[in-house]
Amino acid sequence: RQSNLASTLHNLDGRSYGSLKQIRGRYTFGPVTVFIDRVQADPFASPSKVRVRVDRADAKFPLDLTTDRADRIAAADYLLRAGNEVLAKLDQRALILGRPGQEILERTNILIDDAGFEARLLVNLPARGRRILGHQAADILTRDLPDFAERLFLFDRWSDAPAGSGGNTHAPSAKGLADHVQLHRDQLELRSHLGEAGLIGFVGNGAILPRKSGDSDLPMKSSDAVVFTSPPELEHTVELSSGRTVAGMGIPRGVTVIVGGGYHGKSTILRALERGVYPHIAGDGREWVIGDPTATSIRAEDGRAVTGDDISAFINNLPSGSDTRFFSTTNASGSTSQAANLVEAIEAGANTLLIDEDTSATNFMIRDERMRALIPAEREPITPFVDRVRPLLTEQGVSTVLVAGGSSAFFEVADHVIALDAYVPKEVTDQAHELVGITAADLETAPTGSDPDTGSDSPAAHAFAAAPRVPTAKALRPAAKTKTARAKGSDRIQFGRDFIDLIAIAQLVDTQQASGVAEALEYLAEIFDGRTSLTEALAEVEDMLDAEGLDGITGHRDHPGHLTRPRRQEIAAALNRYRGLSLER
Ligand code: ADP
Ligand code: MG
Repeated sequence: RQSNLASTLHNLDGRSYGSLKQIRGRYTFGPVTVFIDRVQADPFASPSKVRVRVDRADAKFPLDLTTDRADRIAAADYLLRAGNEVLAKLDQRALILGRPGQEILERTNILIDDAGFEARLLVNLPARGRRILGHQAADILTRDLPDFAERLFLFDRWSDAPAGSGGNTHAPSAKGLADHVQLHRDQLELRSHLGEAGLIGFVGNGAILPRKSGDSDLPMKSSDAVVFTSPPELEHTVELSSGRTVAGMGIPRGVTVIVGGGYHGKSTILRALERGVYPHIAGDGREWVIGDPTATSIRAEDGRAVTGDDISAFINNLPSGSDTRFFSTTNASGSTSQAANLVEAIEAGANTLLIDEDTSATNFMIRDERMRALIPAEREPITPFVDRVRPLLTEQGVSTVLVAGGSSAFFEVADHVIALDAYVPKEVTDQAHELVGITAADLETAPTGSDPDTGSDSPAAHAFAAAPRVPTAKALRPAAKTKTARAKGSDRIQFGRDFIDLIAIAQLVDTQQASGVAEALEYLAEIFDGRTSLTEALAEVEDMLDAEGLDGITGHRDHPGHLTRPRRQEIAAALNRYRGLSLER
């Protein structure tokens, strides 16, 4: 439709807001196509949804940066950051493109496909009271919106000004785009190299791990931060095919314990590894902190609901008589919640666990000799993690990185001990082993079968290999038809009348990703049929996302909203916290 949007909007000036509905449709402005997909019903409703699109033939982006799937993710990430800068230049605050964090992630805000380039925006259409401000609306939709699309998507018009100082947004530049895509390629190549080299984590020399503040994900000023340097014993140097060489600390598969005095930077390293499942933008300080993409942070989370988890590897003979091979509660304790988080992470495919003493239940982690003497094994339901961390490795192939500054209990089970001294890591494995009278060879031969200590009938061997959990067909489909999942900030998803609490899910990055999780839950609702296991369903969601992208999961054919792709671990984490979850038995 080539109708005149501008004159329609001018004519609507002063009319009642509801009549804006008629502007839905598709309009052409030179090389830019504007789609008005959804028009808000009133000025206070959620914003209207618009898209702008430019064909490849007009956009003229270099094909080698915008063809491969991974390259498209990085290029779209670049365009999103550049798009925010363009909007700032236009000084047009009614148009919302969505603000990315420090990660390079797959998102819906910018779409690159074979045919062209598309930006998805939200727009608050202006009103005075309940009257349309038609002239202003015309400026936004027929002047600034096409202008935005031309500045962002017509590559010929990009300046060749040097890329900015590596902030969160930047004016579009050809070199900036090429660098961004190349950084992402290098990060992915390093990640696949780590897997082959038997490493589960990598922290590059020169990295800046601490953040600006407890509520900011931006880097600490480099004049204040102690730059990361690998201990020589753990240093790896990787030559990437781009010609770039990256050196840093490699954390091998196995059990790694991080020790050191309080405030010496232990949690900061662990948190960087936690976020190392996502690639970071240039200037973040964590560009070369790259880890096992399945790594999952495990913490205590008392009060959470648990549905049908097999936590018997850790907890048995509860005084309540509950069956811990199918454990459900509406109010988990510190230790049972941590056990549940752990077995759920493994069910969701985690090959590496990240655990910080600061957020762990002590009785879940360790039990000392005197306590073992005082409380007979059959009166203590918990087999502490220190007794399970090696079977997890040898039987399940699951590695652990653990921060423990307060106890030497893990020395006996650690393949590597790293000590932080004023933020500088040192390799102290031999000293730690000597202190507890073992050698590395003892770890190879240590028995890993049932635990004589607990005296219970819970041999380690079977307990991790829990029976698959199968959600019922109506697990995510209660009676109310209004059953839609919607993120409320990054901490909660509203699901029908219920809320799912996401606050303890450390690797969920922002509201957009929570929205991605919400869409995934709706998609899971369609898969659950009383026969498909949770693991199978998660794999199906992932296949779907790989094949059709985030747009596909929403079922929308036009504007999908602003979503970021979540990992399967975070989808599972949200599902497992849903208080209405029901399972087949
Ligand atoms: P720990 O867990 O060992 O007690 P944290 O990791 O919580 O210590 O760090 C303590 C403080 O030191 C935090 O405020 C953190 O931002 C800061 N910090 C951590 N690493 C560095 C570093 N490399 N350079 C400067 N400050 C740092
Ligand atoms: Mg700490």
